[in-house]
Amino acid sequence: MLAARLLDWYDKNARRLPWRYRPGEAPDPYRVWLSEIMLQQTRVQAVIPYFDTFVRKWPTVAALAAAPQEEVLRAWAGLGYYARARNLHKCAQAVAANGGVFPDTESALSELPGVGRYTAAAIAAIAFGRRAAAVDGNVERVMARLYAHAEPMPAAKKRLTALATALVPEQRAGDYAQAVMDLGATICTPAKPVCGLCPWIRNCAAYKAGNAEQLPVRTEKAERPTRRGVAFWLERPDGAILLRRRPQEGLLGGMVEVPSTPWRSEEWSTDEALAFAPLSTDWRTLRGQVRHTFTHFHLELSVLAARASADADGHWCARRDIDDAGLPTVMMKVAKLALKSK
Ligand code: SF4
Repeated sequence: MLAARLLDWYDKNARRLPWRYRPGEAPDPYRVWLSEIMLQQTRVQAVIPYFDTFVRKWPTVAALAAAPQEEVLRAWAGLGYYARARNLHKCAQAVAANGGVFPDTESALSELPGVGRYTAAAIAAIAFGRRAAAVDGNVERVMARLYAHAEPMPAAKKRLTALATALVPEQRAGDYAQAVMDLGATICTPAKPVCGLCPWIRNCAAYKAGNAEQLPVRTEKAERPTRRGVAFWLERPDGAILLRRRPQEGLLGGMVEVPSTPWRSEEWSTDEALAFAPLSTDWRTLRGQVRHTFTHFHLELSVLAARASADADGHWCARRDIDDAGLPTVMMKVAKLALKSK
């Protein structure tokens, strides 16, 4: 039976990850939830240090709920997809208001802020042993290969979800969910799957057909557009840097940033950009550009720098504190370029 074979493999080969419980231990729903939110769109290796920091600072959901939002955003800085951090905080508050108890069914979990279908199924299975199928891109790939399902994505999602759901066992549903994730992450990888080590090799239709690497079939993605902006690096004579907080709504909502123009597809002339400068002074253009890729677009930022002591909208951050200011990755790139140009 496929599930039993995979669970045997998992018992010997499970990845050791800081949020995983040991055999015989009861899973902690707070750690399961926190790790699943952090892992959305993010690699395991990037998540590990953030997970460790969060559970050290906020060992319970009640502690996280009681933290100021700015502190949560600062601890999240660099992990990306910042709406997750705001929803994480809202969700912690909703659970804390419920006596610190997470709901234990897929449908009730999916009503929490930031908990979509996949995450609700993963928490229901891993934290509460519910028979739920957590189907993400990894699991879709494994199913597409196991059954040699050649329908192109994303149309194939429905069928692949049904195939994945049918395989979930009654017992050890949480271990099974993590086992499929591990199989997709370490053996049935997008390029060069290591079929020789796979517990499902004897049942795998794509292995038999020799077309595993061509599955799942993907339709060409549209090119990401490029947006452009100009950032303003303003330094006080004592070296402090002007930063400001972005509005709560929208991209990087609530995060700290180096002030900048809006981001648009057309190039900015210096005169146009200066209309958005935090103050009128002698700005100079720094050499080089910052490039950053978001989910839906590439961003190119030029940087103007100046020294001034006049008051401007925002707050001043001492130079030595810039690494801990909670700047998202794109703004850390601006800081690096500006500091390198000194
Ligand atoms: S045999 Fe190969 S292609 Fe098939 S599930 Fe295993 S790793 Fe993936």
